[in-house]
Amino acid sequence: MARIDGMGMNAQSKDVDLVVLGSGAGGMTAALTAATLGLDVLLVEKTEWIRGTASRSGGSLWVPNTRHGPPGNDSIDNALIYLRAALGVDRTDTFIATPWNRR
Ligand SMILES: Cc1cc2nc3c(=O)[nH]c(=O)nc-3n(C[C@H](O)[C@H](O)[C@H](O)COP(=O)(O)OP(=O)(O)OC[C@H]3O[C@@H](n4cnc5c(N)ncnc54)[C@H](O)[C@@H]3O)c2cc1C
Repeated sequence: MARIDGMGMNAQSKDVDLVVLGSGAGGMTAALTAATLGLDVLLVEKTEWIRGTASRSGGSLWVPNTRHGPPGNDSIDNALIYLRAALGVDRTDTFIATPWNRR
């Protein structure tokens, strides 16, 4: 985790190829991928901390129903059961649309 100091509101204008909002895992991955591909990237974080939610995570990746996982009970249905229990049905079904949970 890194803290941004001294940025204030004195940022100068700069032309870039890509602006990424947010320094969470998603934003950092997008910024790193784009930079690796040769794009000039500006990563913008609204807080004073570079970290996102991953700073509080267990440090492992939860990627349900991937072909890289061990065979077993992993399925889209089980992932939705977990998310509905953790987030609530309304939030899960509002933010995650799959062919399996469309109402
Ligand atoms: C306690 C906990 C444990 C977890 N454990 C795991 C785990 O073990 N394995 C796993 O795979 N996942 C885990 N997760 C989930 C995982 O951490 C998140 O799904 C993931 O980090 C989300 O990343 P993100 O980039 O999508 O969003 P975020 O991490 O939320 O990042 C969004 C960033 O954007 C910034 N931002 C928001 N609005 C703006 C704006 N307008 N302009 C600029 N910046 C903005 C925010 O400040 C933040 O830094 C866990 C989550 C929690 C809370």
